[in-house]
Amino acid sequence: MPRTAHVAIGAAVIFTVFVVWIAGAWSHGTSIKAVNDIAFVGLSILGAFFAAFAARAVHGRLRAAWVAMTIGMVGWALGEVLWAYYELALDEPPFPSLADAAYLLMPVGFCVGLLLFPGENGQSRGRTLLDGVIVAGSFFVVSWVTILSPMYSAGSDSASAMIISLAYPISDVVILTIAAMAWLRAARDQRLVLAMLTIAMACIALSDSGFTYLSAESAYDSGDLIDIGWVAGLLLIIVAATASRDEVGAPKARSASTVWAPVWFPYTPLLLAGIVAAAEPATIFRTPMVEIVGALLMLAVLGRQYLAVTENRRLLACVAEQALRDPLTGLANRAMFSDRLEEAMQRRERDHVSVALIVLDLNDFKVVNDTLGHPAGDELLNRVGERILGCVRNSDTVARLGGDEFVVLVDDDAADDYAGHIAARVTKSFDKPFVIDGHELFIRPSVGLAVAGGHEPGVSAGELVKRADMAMYAAKKTRTADVHTFTPELRVADPREEGLHGLPYSTPSTADVAAVQLLGELRQAIDAVELTLLYQPKVDLLTGNLVGVEALVRWPHHRRGLLSPDEFLPLVRHHGLMRPVTDLVINTALDAALRWHQQELHIPVAVNMSAPLLADPRLPARIRRALADRNLPASVLTVEITEDLVLGNIEGTRDVLNQLRRSGIRIAIDDFGSGYSTLSYLCELPVDEVKLDRRLVVPIVEDARVATVARAVIALAHELGLIVVAEGVEEAEVAARLTEFGCDVVQGFYFSVPLSAEEVLRLAAGPTSEHHGARPQSLERSSSLD
Ligand code: C2E
Ligand code: CA
Ligand code: CA
Repeated sequence: MPRTAHVAIGAAVIFTVFVVWIAGAWSHGTSIKAVNDIAFVGLSILGAFFAAFAARAVHGRLRAAWVAMTIGMVGWALGEVLWAYYELALDEPPFPSLADAAYLLMPVGFCVGLLLFPGENGQSRGRTLLDGVIVAGSFFVVSWVTILSPMYSAGSDSASAMIISLAYPISDVVILTIAAMAWLRAARDQRLVLAMLTIAMACIALSDSGFTYLSAESAYDSGDLIDIGWVAGLLLIIVAATASRDEVGAPKARSASTVWAPVWFPYTPLLLAGIVAAAEPATIFRTPMVEIVGALLMLAVLGRQYLAVTENRRLLACVAEQALRDPLTGLANRAMFSDRLEEAMQRRERDHVSVALIVLDLNDFKVVNDTLGHPAGDELLNRVGERILGCVRNSDTVARLGGDEFVVLVDDDAADDYAGHIAARVTKSFDKPFVIDGHELFIRPSVGLAVAGGHEPGVSAGELVKRADMAMYAAKKTRTADVHTFTPELRVADPREEGLHGLPYSTPSTADVAAVQLLGELRQAIDAVELTLLYQPKVDLLTGNLVGVEALVRWPHHRRGLLSPDEFLPLVRHHGLMRPVTDLVINTALDAALRWHQQELHIPVAVNMSAPLLADPRLPARIRRALADRNLPASVLTVEITEDLVLGNIEGTRDVLNQLRRSGIRIAIDDFGSGYSTLSYLCELPVDEVKLDRRLVVPIVEDARVATVARAVIALAHELGLIVVAEGVEEAEVAARLTEFGCDVVQGFYFSVPLSAEEVLRLAAGPTSEHHGARPQSLERSSSLD
């Protein structure tokens, strides 16, 4: 900090000059009143300015501290001006005078300022103040015994003169104490500043005591040696003010060490006072002033002890509370949630009220963490917590169970109705995007709800959690924004009875172990390229020709059998493994395409790519490389944009898509009409193909409205120059309808289930092998279904 160093050097020079000069003048016995007075006026005004600069440069509590000290310094400067006037214009400076009133503004300002200094450990300002009073009172007792009592009994001066001359040393001791306390409890970046201020107060206190003594003897004159203390104090205040400004800009470090000195600090002088007083006859304490100080001292000691006890109690309560809170969001943690749930379940037994749980898991939270960084992820979790809190009553418990899992506990006479209402409200609150780091993020939760009715037997807390969890996974599976409520059928349908992804509640260890084990196996499977692909044919509706395939990932698991994407992609997403999985899929798919190519079958292959990966600017180069390695043309590859979350930087995504498209790769929008891919994608993103979601396809034979929408979407897509692919065609009737609507390509079990690469080869080469070549064999209906 160059500024502080410069000021410190300047201060040292001024100090040296002053000391040499005072010492020289003193040794010659000359009166140097005028110059001395002007020096004090100058320095105190300078001090006021430096304090004011510090106040302007810093913020918050520190600013308030420096404002108070600036007022103190202005008081001091005023006092100096008045004093100079008395000394120079009048022969005999009056005492006490207006100057004393101004001077005494300084201890008040500094007391307040030092108390306001931001501290680090838990001690309150009230306790600091009482410590100051205890120390000051003790010092008063000591000084009473040693100098004041003899002076007082000599009684030459008026009572007010006596009181004012006592006010200096007493107030000095109080500030000195407060400064030392503030120093001990200071935030690390202000510790040096407070050290300087404490030393400054000590210097000033020394000079003030000397002054009291000399004035009582009427032996003080400006230019006395004791002036050195004041000058040193003023200069130190100036340097401290500069350092305070500099330190605020410097990087902050936190100290974890507990400071124990403040605990015993005030008792040392108290002990001293006790010893000194005990040695004296009790009679010398029998004056009103000493009795008042004694009473104050007792009160201060009692008050301090009381504060110390309540503070400790508060601290303990705070620690206990924190043990039950999630440190990130401030919501209840798992421990508190379990407690509350257990309580609620007991109440349910007793009073037959119902208890409901709403479990929320954010979709693709991992993507936010991976693309925007963990601080953004934390910020998002906080915002999510706030939104959920905004949807519940005070009596409901909202907890974060770790990661991106939240739970709301509702126990209430009307929990059945009310919980559904809350769940819907919470879900709706996610309609608005979250703005994190300037990105607009559309985050969706999967929401599961389970209610234990007041008269339903045999539902334990663990069972209820499990049910809510199953409902949540059902919601996750359908990828809709609807709240899923637990029904007994879910249990039958849910293959993850073992609590694979579930909340490990009733048997935490086994469930955790299973989840961790599966994750480990998944990582291994990815590394060892054990994930495989099936290829579902895409068929031209007019010609019946195979026009391409869609690659669909599978995980052949040694115990669980062939796992479908719905069974392990949540895990992939959750643990940030989407990129390696996608790389694996692209490479495997292109390997298959190469094999077909070598057989003169030019079958384009489509791969699913989760939208957030498409914001990665290095993606196009990686894909081009994969194509070049196999000497394949870019036209063999189609990228299907899947997943429900497109990050705020739609620009980045558009950039990547543009690059891909320029190199000849086709872009398709997947699951159009599922509620996630919106119309705006069609306008904002460069695409070649729209894939109509099953939900827009299957019902077209019985639901006229869906049919109208499907027909309109097909027309719209054609208007935009896009190819339309209908998914999930299982019946001839649907296929016929689609042909009528002008749909271009279809995909579904009616034509073919997903096939292995060899099966695709056989199918395309076909029994009528004269057809093969660039135009694959026509495919009316898959034999593999028969
Ligand atoms: P998707 O992209 O919509 O894929 C079509 C899904 O519908 C496939 O399920 C397919 O087997 C199934 N399907 C095909 N025809 C029919 C039909 O006529 N009726 C019915 N009911 N279903 C049909 P799959 O293979 O289980 O894939 C599910 C989803 O997993 C895919 O939906 C896709 O979003 C995702 N996925 C699959 N492979 C990958 C991948 O490699 N990467 C990424 N990111 N996602 C993938
Ligand atoms: Ca797809
Ligand atoms: Ca799809």
